[in-house]
Amino acid sequence: MEVCGTHTASIVKNGIPSLLSGKIRLISGPGCPVCVTVTAYIDRLISLAMEPGNLVLCFGDLLRVRGSRISLSDARAEGAKVRMIYSPFEALALAQEHPEMQIIVAAIGFETTAPVYAALLEEAIQKQIRNLKLLTSLKTMPEVIRWVAAQSRSEARITGFLAPGHVCAVTGYREYCELAEECGLPFVVSGFSGEELLYSIYALMKLQGRGEARNLYPRVVSFEGNTAAKAAVDRYFEACDASWRGMGTIPGSGLALREAYAAYDAGSRSLTEDHMAAGCRCADILTGRIAPEECPLFMKVCTPANPHGACMVSQEGSCFNHAVR
Ligand code: SF4
Repeated sequence: MEVCGTHTASIVKNGIPSLLSGKIRLISGPGCPVCVTVTAYIDRLISLAMEPGNLVLCFGDLLRVRGSRISLSDARAEGAKVRMIYSPFEALALAQEHPEMQIIVAAIGFETTAPVYAALLEEAIQKQIRNLKLLTSLKTMPEVIRWVAAQSRSEARITGFLAPGHVCAVTGYREYCELAEECGLPFVVSGFSGEELLYSIYALMKLQGRGEARNLYPRVVSFEGNTAAKAAVDRYFEACDASWRGMGTIPGSGLALREAYAAYDAGSRSLTEDHMAAGCRCADILTGRIAPEECPLFMKVCTPANPHGACMVSQEGSCFNHAVR
């Protein structure tokens, strides 16, 4: 299983499945932030964007993911104030230019993006900007990998993991050594080029199922990771239970703003409800139970132009990448 959505996209872009032995099957994991976001989070963003005086900012992929009824893009057509951004730091300028508005940033992602939101908060606090809030759905990887590995154990569905390179650049790969030992499965930290991915898959095979970890992305990933980024995240966020699309709540798998920064929180806690679109099998895709082609809606009802589920929306989503390859 490649855990990271950027790995999924690079594997497809480089045609890697066609280069592998038929004995090796790659499956995508829960490392695409848009794919694992529950409908309650989208619904909350929509209700915030509908309130007069609010402006919701988000990245492009999130616009097209449906909540329990509609997407942010649909809501915008109904009058919701939503704007696409390329960097969360655009929020600072907007908040300063529009003191009459409440600027709300949709903060989703993993350990890779959490430091960006910590830096954004730091700057907002320094500049005494008070009309900026985050709606967070930040998640952490080890707990969900542990959960997926446990779910797959009885069927031996997953026999090794390509660990997420970008996440490990922040966290370090120490915790993946611990996970490998605990799960009794091999982990290889991989880079993102075609050559790096092929080499990492080869290394995974050479480990022959042993519960050990290898770091094949040493130019970016160290054992302890980026200690400054980790300290910044720790200053503003604390571990919390988090809900994952189709998987339920996994204890300790999220990051929530600390109580001291509650004034910057747009109501992120307790967003657990999850109403996936009828017939959508995203949860089975994200845990490796089925391949996208096995979903009855794949490329019939659900296409990149008209996505039915989140895994078809995101360019890192498994269904999207199977559709375009
Ligand atoms: Fe969901 Fe579409 Fe993927 Fe089926 S093909 S699992 S409906 S995103």
